[in-house]
Amino acid sequence: MKIPNGQQIIEEFEKWSPKYLAMEGDPIGLHVGTLNKKVERVLVTLDVDEAVVDEAIEKGAGLIIAHHPPIFRPLKNLQTDFPQGRLMEKLIKNDIAVYAAHTNLDVAWGGVNDLLAEALGLSETSVLVKTYEAELVKIAVFVPESHEDQVRKAFGDAGAGAIGDYEHCSYTLSGTGRFRPTASADPYIGEAGKMEQTAESKIEVVVRKAEKDRVIRAMIAAHPYEEPAYDVFTLENKELPMGLGRVGRLKEEMSLDAFVEHVKSSLDVPFVRVVGTGDETIRKVAVLGGDGNKYIQQAKRAGADVYITGDLYFHVAQDAQAIGLPVIDPGHHVEKVMIRGVVDHMTAKGANWQCEFLPSEVNTEPFRLK
Ligand SMILES: [Zn+2]
Repeated sequence: MKIPNGQQIIEEFEKWSPKYLAMEGDPIGLHVGTLNKKVERVLVTLDVDEAVVDEAIEKGAGLIIAHHPPIFRPLKNLQTDFPQGRLMEKLIKNDIAVYAAHTNLDVAWGGVNDLLAEALGLSETSVLVKTYEAELVKIAVFVPESHEDQVRKAFGDAGAGAIGDYEHCSYTLSGTGRFRPTASADPYIGEAGKMEQTAESKIEVVVRKAEKDRVIRAMIAAHPYEEPAYDVFTLENKELPMGLGRVGRLKEEMSLDAFVEHVKSSLDVPFVRVVGTGDETIRKVAVLGGDGNKYIQQAKRAGADVYITGDLYFHVAQDAQAIGLPVIDPGHHVEKVMIRGVVDHMTAKGANWQCEFLPSEVNTEPFRLK
């Protein structure tokens, strides 16, 4: 087992939660330090505050993956007499890098919103607010049969053929390849100037256009030929739209008041704010982690009986009441489901690395109810 480089860890992470899924202006990515170093321990957290940095130091983590970007507004100075300056100083002095995955992790399949929907026990989920529809390409490559597995694996590892809940999807056909190496070639099969034929397979995979260069590089690296023959086709098919929030069904309907208790226990929060009388019948649920004030109309149009989102404004609560849409505001802290989600995903993907992904145990919720 090898200790991975920070860059390798983030490359793997971004196959799941690529930067292009983030909302415009969201300050995601590397915030502090460098990824150009070996990382044996990664701390996963919702927020980065001083207690979390102390935890990272104590646990020997060289990298923190956080949901909420620690530098959300541009810094005007780095005075270490103030909390944020002190935080940055501590991170840098202890050689701890911080990487933020915010709205891209909200949108990603299996990301924050899917984790929330799953925790709530929702089924038949779909996207609440569409924000991204991937253009797709099909890559077809011709490979000698002996190297089929190797090339298919390289494709899959690079993220090709990921369709919904499936990965490493591909299609293979057998045929005959013919070629004549010229005098200057250094052929893997055959000799210069002589017509050759060989049993070859054609492997086809579907890839998001935004990821095709990475996938082609990985395929070429795994291919035995000096100049692999491959085609890239533009597809008219679109990927299932991706976006913020999820809408899904409860297994059994319940009253709003009963559902409030369900939210508190399944999302592990001690209190929520509620718009609605409590007697409403809840079957269909819309959930959007973080601040979803903008999307109450979408939740209503999606047929949701209740909308769960954080940071509810007074006037938005009034609007929701007026359109007859119950709302539950559990705050931002419910997004802590991402900690388990990221730890599990990265532990599985990094099974061959000598690197531990650790959940932060610090409670970063700033509110308490008196
Ligand atoms: Zn948030």
